[in-house]
Amino acid sequence: MKFVDEFRQRELADGLAAAIATEADSGRDYRLMEFCGGHTHAIFRYGIQDLMPDNVSFVHGPGCPVCVLPIGRIDNAIKLAVEDEVILCIYGDLLRVPGSGRTSLMKIKASGGDVRMVYSTSDALQIARANPDREVVFFAIGFETTTPATAVALKQARAESLPNFSVFCNHVLTPAAIQNILESPEVREIGSVRIDGFFGPSHVSSVIGSRPYEFFAEEYQKPVVIAGFEPLDVMQAALMLVHQLNSGRHEVENQYTRVVTREGNRKAQRLVAEVFELRRAFEWRGLGLVPYSALKIKSDFADFDAELRFDVPAVSASDVKGCACPQILRGAAKPTDCKLFGTVCSPDNPMGSCMVSSEGACAAYYSYGRFRQPRPDTEAAA
Ligand code: SF4
Repeated sequence: MKFVDEFRQRELADGLAAAIATEADSGRDYRLMEFCGGHTHAIFRYGIQDLMPDNVSFVHGPGCPVCVLPIGRIDNAIKLAVEDEVILCIYGDLLRVPGSGRTSLMKIKASGGDVRMVYSTSDALQIARANPDREVVFFAIGFETTTPATAVALKQARAESLPNFSVFCNHVLTPAAIQNILESPEVREIGSVRIDGFFGPSHVSSVIGSRPYEFFAEEYQKPVVIAGFEPLDVMQAALMLVHQLNSGRHEVENQYTRVVTREGNRKAQRLVAEVFELRRAFEWRGLGLVPYSALKIKSDFADFDAELRFDVPAVSASDVKGCACPQILRGAAKPTDCKLFGTVCSPDNPMGSCMVSSEGACAAYYSYGRFRQPRPDTEAAA
């Protein structure tokens, strides 16, 4: 398949691995954060860490939209389905994210709540048209990649004067989260988290462009390389980051030129600006309250804002005791640092959001078995 097969070729991967090993200075190490869960998934699926020299390692970031949603917002959605008795339309990833008290939208659905999995915002609109006597709420999540589709749905609902449709908006913004990590005490004061450079997200950057990262590169003196999601994309971006660090540069480079431009998708940006505005602050799992890091629906579209139509209180809820998702999302821990990993917590029985979504670091570690040590009597001998 074009744009896929040519970015998965073994011989080219071997060549890039050799180039990175040559470029990496044995006198130092390189800690590179992949902000985006799509990169985390690719790194584990293709065993990219195993192709790196020992002194090049990946730090997993908070770029999985399901993972960063705080429990309070899941509790809000559960309330909409249970107490307000709406038809709650959600993307499938959200079904099993634990809310307070070990409940989840899957359990609510099993006990009779009208929670419906949709593949697009147009599915949610169609459900609203087909059920004029019911309130239909679309649980909107995601980074800048999915926001334009929600904007289209809101415009469509207004154009049709669809009275029973509204959106519970949880769209979040990448640049604010990266800045929050770089400003965190673990990075700036304690120094327990060291990040030398960033893989910039691919799909997000196709919308916002590469320009928004120029500030971080300059202000925090960290190189950023926008990278695609295929294994050769990630490896080439790693080589570009190591090369920048060796050269003492901190610039924004674009490995994913087949999709991303400096300016991004202007049409999508205009659409988002027409429908959404910045929230003053939004809670992220792991990062806490992050200023200007999320979007809310503009007053022009207030009739379709579920937070205005229903009582949606600010809920503060703690993660499951022992769950290290907050630390993992800040790059301060790995899934294998969590005592629950692979014992109490697994994809079949997730205790935290990082084990639910395929883009979550815990799910990626678990699904691809990268945490397992080879058994000396079998695999090592093979
Ligand atoms: S393994 Fe489970 S409990 Fe531990 S951090 Fe990951 S999601 Fe949370």
